[in-house]
Amino acid sequence: MSNENPSLVPEAACLYVVGTPIGNLADLSERAISILSKVDCVACEDTRVTGLLFSRIGIKRPLIPYHDKNEANATNGLIQRLKSGESVAIVSDAGTPAVSDPGFRIVRECRRQGITVVPVPGPCAFTTLLSASGLPTDSFLYMGFLPPKSAARIRFLEKHKDYKRTIALYESCHRIEKFMNEMEKTLGPDRVICIGRELTKKFETIHSGKIVDIRPQFDQGSKKGEFVVLIAPANYEL
Ligand code: SAM
Repeated sequence: MSNENPSLVPEAACLYVVGTPIGNLADLSERAISILSKVDCVACEDTRVTGLLFSRIGIKRPLIPYHDKNEANATNGLIQRLKSGESVAIVSDAGTPAVSDPGFRIVRECRRQGITVVPVPGPCAFTTLLSASGLPTDSFLYMGFLPPKSAARIRFLEKHKDYKRTIALYESCHRIEKFMNEMEKTLGPDRVICIGRELTKKFETIHSGKIVDIRPQFDQGSKKGEFVVLIAPANYEL
């Protein structure tokens, strides 16, 4: 009889929602590796990205594309596989599936059809920064990506100028400078924010403090890579 921890072995007809690293490969959990190496197939956002991850950790499993453009069709196919008894894992390119990433539809459909869904937790960019930011974590608003148009972002900031909770946002490297200007103008230079760049990677940078105080380092630093922005509650002092 095997002594293997049962949580490391996938069950038949079960969907596993598996978190993968947001940069640092060592953040892939033992349980994630075990489940990913033993499921019947893995639904992934980009087969090249997941294929590279798998080749680095020595895993070979059938990969099924599951992304924004084919989510509806791919969901039907995956549900059929699950109903026939296959175990399926879903991953995104980085972080937690379904958090500003594909995954929500297949999970919802499984829940609707009584198929078991098991989370295998892993990194998530905004909770990673939140945990190290010094900003209030007891209650927060996660908004993902704001709209790309400046006017819509400014409207959001104006609406939340007096908001009493931390706000967590994702922003692209192409807009981060512009967004910094929009925050300074709309929320004022004394608003406390935290900006995390390239979290868990070699050039990880975290600036936390009043906009006016972190601006010089931010302006001088590289704007390449991936960014998370946290906005502290109104009147919060770090
Ligand atoms: N599902 C992912 C998660 O759990 O965080 C988020 C996916 S979303 C498409 C990608 C965005 O997450 C990036 O544009 C960036 O804003 C943020 N992000 C992902 N990895 C990051 C990292 N290592 N450092 C900073 N931000 C990151």
